[in-house]
Amino acid sequence: MSGGRGRMGGRGLGPGGECVCPNCGYRVSHSRGEPCYNKTCPKCGAKMTRA
Ligand SMILES: [Zn+2]
Repeated sequence: MSGGRGRMGGRGLGPGGECVCPNCGYRVSHSRGEPCYNKTCPKCGAKMTRA
């Protein structure tokens, strides 16, 4: 086993992955090149952070 990208469905930081709102806990998935700190929570408007 090499490569290390074989596990889907777990938690863990993949490429892309999720952003989480530190304020309300709302999570969104995001894609590469779109940093969490550039996103705002759709629920409360706080800056998102990396999950
Ligand atoms: Zn929020």
